[in-house]
Amino acid sequence: MANTGRCPECGHDGTPILYGLPITKARVMAMLGHIRLGGCVVSADDPHWECGNCRHSWQDSAGAARALAAIFARPAGESGAARRIGG
Ligand SMILES: [Zn+2]
Repeated sequence: MANTGRCPECGHDGTPILYGLPITKARVMAMLGHIRLGGCVVSADDPHWECGNCRHSWQDSAGAARALAAIFARPAGESGAARRIGG
């Protein structure tokens, strides 16, 4: 599949970008480098992924759904207890 969570420029794994007011869990995940926070202002041409290697950002062909699925599939912390924070 083209244009997914992998950087179209260098092939590195992309980091999903979360928009909106970040809940506590999202802040923790961003600190750990699991996600990027895109801010509260959302427009139609915002990218869904950012490359952790070359900083290229791009839109997913499936829209935000795949990036969101990647965000929620990732652990929020070492223990998993943080999963309930802010949920
Ligand atoms: Zn890249």
